[in-house]
This record gives sequence, C-alpha cells and structure tokens, in this order.
Amino acid sequence: MKKIWYILILLLLTISPSAHAQSDAVIEQNRAIVDFPNSVTFQLGYASETTITDAVLTYEVQQFGCLDAAANVPVEVTGELLSWEWVMIRSGNPPPGAIMHWHWTLTDANGRETITPVQELTFVDERFDWHTIKSGDISMNWYEGKQVGTILLDAAVEGLDRLENEMGIEMVSDINFYIYGDYDEMRDAVIYIQDWAGGVAFSEYNTILMGVPPAIAEDWGRSTIQHELAHLVIGQYGQSCIGGRRPTWLDEGLAVYAEGEPDAETRNSIADNLKNNGFVPLRSLNGAFPAHGDGVGHAYAQSYSVVNFLFETYGTGKMQELLLALAAGNGYDEALEAVYGFNVDGLEVEWRAAIGADPRTIPPTPTPIVAAAVPTAVAQSIPRHMPTPGAASQPPIIVDTPSPNPQPTSPPASPPSASTGICGLGMVPFMLTGIYAFTRKKKKRG
Ligand SMILES: [Zn+2]
Repeated sequence: MKKIWYILILLLLTISPSAHAQSDAVIEQNRAIVDFPNSVTFQLGYASETTITDAVLTYEVQQFGCLDAAANVPVEVTGELLSWEWVMIRSGNPPPGAIMHWHWTLTDANGRETITPVQELTFVDERFDWHTIKSGDISMNWYEGKQVGTILLDAAVEGLDRLENEMGIEMVSDINFYIYGDYDEMRDAVIYIQDWAGGVAFSEYNTILMGVPPAIAEDWGRSTIQHELAHLVIGQYGQSCIGGRRPTWLDEGLAVYAEGEPDAETRNSIADNLKNNGFVPLRSLNGAFPAHGDGVGHAYAQSYSVVNFLFETYGTGKMQELLLALAAGNGYDEALEAVYGFNVDGLEVEWRAAIGADPRTIPPTPTPIVAAAVPTAVAQSIPRHMPTPGAASQPPIIVDTPSPNPQPTSPPASPPSASTGICGLGMVPFMLTGIYAFTRKKKKRG
C-alpha cells in the first residue's frame, strides 16, 4: 500500500482586505495546503469583528477541454477560520504542472459581499528534484538519469517535426512531459491508475506522465514518447466538443507513422500478412484492437500501412480534411466518403491493391454498435484490455456536487464504452504501445 505524502505547498498568499466598501470583512489569511495528489485544503481566516453569514469557495484548475470546470462550494461558517477540503479521491487528481485558481465570496450580516482576489498555485510533485528543459512548446521534466531529459526532448522535437512538417498535423498548445525514474513512482502521482500502466496522458492538461528507467530511455523511451506525443497532438488538432471521434486504426496508424521509419517488426508483420493473406478487415480495426497476442502487433502494423497509403497517395491536405471532418462529428464512413470518395471498405480495397495484397474475400464485418463509441477521439491510445471508463479514466474535473465514488464495481464488458465522454475524459493510461515497442525491441535483440 503506497502511502504518499509528497507535497505540502503552503501558499500563504494574499492578506487582502476587500477592495471596495461592500463589506467590512477583514481577511487575515487565504491559503491552500496541497497534499499531492490526494487533497487540497482551502483555508480563509478573517478578523473576529467581522460577521460572515455565508461563504462560497470558487476554484478551478486550468484545462483545455470543452467544459467549464469551475466549482462553487458553499462552505459552512462556524468561526473565524473557514476551511474546505477538496478530496481528490472523488474527482481524480490534476497532473503536476497544473495550475489552480481560487477565490472566496463572503457575505456579511447586512448582505454585503466581499470577493477575495484570485489566488494561483501550481501543483508540484515535490518528492523529486525535477530538472526542466524546453524546446519550443515542449517541456521535459525529469529527475533520474543525467541524459534522460535531453534524449527524450530530442525525440519529442523530432516527433513533432515529423507531425507538423511531414504529416501536416500541428500542435495547438504547449505539451509537458513528466518523466519518472520508474513506473511505481509515476503511478504514485496519480490516484486512479492501473498497476500495469507505464504512463498516463492527461489530455485536458496537455500533460504526459511516463515511467522511463534511464536504461531504456534511448530505445523504448524515444519511440514511446514520439508515439504518445503524436496522440496528444492529433487529439489537439482533431479536438471535438460535439462528440466527433476517430477510428482506432487511424489514431494508432498515425501514432506509429509519427515514430518514423517502421521498424523491423512492423515491416515483418506487413510482409507476413501480405504473404499469408492475413490482414484483418479494416472495419474491424475501427474499434478496440485485440487485447493480447500477436494480433496486437499486427493491428498496429496494418494501421500504419493504411495510414502510410493515405499519405503516399493522397497527401497531407486530405489527412487534415479527414481529421477535421471527423472532429465535426461525421461518422467514419461519412468522413472518408466526403474527403476521399470511399468508405472504410472502399479504402481497404484501394489499400490492398496498392500494397499488392489479394482482394479480400471475406465479407466486411458490420461496424459494431459500440465502435463509434470507443473513446478513440481522446488524444490517447486505448488500453484495450482494461476498462477505460470508471475510476481509471475518471476525469479530474471539478464538479459542484461531488460525484459518487467512481470506483467501478466490475469491469465493463468489452469494449470500453464512451461513457467517459469525449471532452470529459481527462486521463488515459497507456502501456500497450510500450509493451508492443518493448516486445519489438526484445524480438529484435533475440
Ligand atoms: Zn497508441
């Protein structure tokens, strides 16, 4: 059982009397005590001669989602020190680097209001001494391994260059990486995370937490950071507040493409499936990928091949159009039809012909009802064998009324549903790409 007490940020900020004469409340202290990632305790002290009858705390963590996440909490007035605790076990926690603002609205016995000045704090994981380096709009924070930050920042910059200049997919907002020295230390920074996760992407904070032991920074770290950066940037570019989603083959194909030249494992998978007529119907890759076994690697490789075909044949402009058509809420077939003039099956026919595969003989599988509901539209890879809804993906969104404990009583039947919502999904743990990449490396070595 990991018990963490990492941070105590004490902000003894403003001691600020009200700006105007609405009320005579004299504020003596206004602070937020952070026990990251578990809780924030807000405290407001005022002078004893002041009679406060009502108090409302308003706080908000800056996000890049579609929802207004400000919370207004009525706080009981029992004495000269008002106190309220935001217990993050209910809401999930924001990542390190997230910025919170808050203020209090006080009403005195005469109905006059005092609004305290807005305060700000940045969440920090103070267990470690972080180094930070930046390049452009990418920040790399790490603490273990001398070269780790440089290696991974170089990889991220290279990946972003490929995304923007070869793939036509531009980054919209700054992205922050927090690289932990191992997986456990990373997981301890997040309340809700599966014990298999090697990283977690907080898409609404444009922040990725990864566990990267220095020994594997150069190989696993490089490719994984490019892959996950791609998911975040694609998610920014194709952000949809009206429920638009992308098929998994597109998201994963783009992310593998963003890793650069396909590695031997990807090339071998494509070659084997060409020889054995082993490709699966593309439509079956609209939704969740296979959870286990060889199918995982083949699904990534096939997706890469399809995306590579789209770029080679139709260029970046069409890909931009496709991403925007999907963001606009069009279905997968509709969006493809509008941009390329074929649906998913038509794409499969063209792609197979282009790579020299035999025409497919099996009939297309119907699109599962849930396929469009798989939360591929969030910026991240989908942990296919784990439930993304419920606790694991409970968005760190602040609500007026705390939601019931989101811990799921049982994993949902496959595949994950979209109950988390496209804009409400704040964090997605990832590992499969890691496993996949790592497997590939091991195979290469072997
Ligand atoms: Zn992925």
